[in-house]
Amino acid sequence: MKVEILGCSGGMGKKKHTTCYRINEHTLLDAGTGLGSLSHKEQLKIKHVFITHSHMDHICFLPLLIDNLFEYLTQPLQVYALPEILATLQQHIFNWKIWPDFSTLPNEEAPVVKFNTITPHESLVIEGLTLTAFPVEHTIATCGYHVINKQGKALAFTSDTTFGPNVLKEINQLGKLDVLMTECAFPNRLNKLAKLSKHLTPSLLNTFINALEHTPKQVWLSHLKPSQTEEIKAELTQLNLNTQVRLLKSGELLEV
Ligand SMILES: [Zn+2]
Ligand SMILES: [Zn+2]
Repeated sequence: MKVEILGCSGGMGKKKHTTCYRINEHTLLDAGTGLGSLSHKEQLKIKHVFITHSHMDHICFLPLLIDNLFEYLTQPLQVYALPEILATLQQHIFNWKIWPDFSTLPNEEAPVVKFNTITPHESLVIEGLTLTAFPVEHTIATCGYHVINKQGKALAFTSDTTFGPNVLKEINQLGKLDVLMTECAFPNRLNKLAKLSKHLTPSLLNTFINALEHTPKQVWLSHLKPSQTEEIKAELTQLNLNTQVRLLKSGELLEV
């Protein structure tokens, strides 16, 4: 399984893009500013967008993608998220005030976007990949995605989460993982803020990985706050995790 890291930063800046991963040419996980690095031709190929939660850094380019595709789509763009998240997007973004309600355009019978409710632990097979949402621990309803390809390679993307018993149980239930793609938003000194905003620090990540029943073959890290990246990196090098740890970079194409 090829995973293209379109955006993996915890903020914006030169060469820094927020969360968006392309897991095949038709399918995205989240729609942050990383989505803007796709050419128009590549954008036209996107058919499915799996959203983890409605925070701005994960959805901000979804309205712009739909607008870009508007006159070209023959089938609706399929957007998947938890029901609470779809309701938030419809109430606060696609409300005609911030952006048009594209789920009714050009008409309700044949709209350019379809919002699909996902249910945690129920699998969907899309473009040869089996995707299953699982709840994580963040400030609003948020899910991660477990993705398995036909060869049985398994990736779990937690999106934004802190460490706690619920997310630990969820990851343990997934069984063996080739890659756990998670976050490390804050340095250890901002532990209080990390807990309030429900993110991870190197110390919390350490506890998380060591508590897992099966150590993933690789751990990919994202969502580092741009102003604290060097501090977080230095703390990560102090950890002694019994697995291969990779700090993601926008623009990379990785193989699971
Ligand atoms: Zn978030
Ligand atoms: Zn985020």
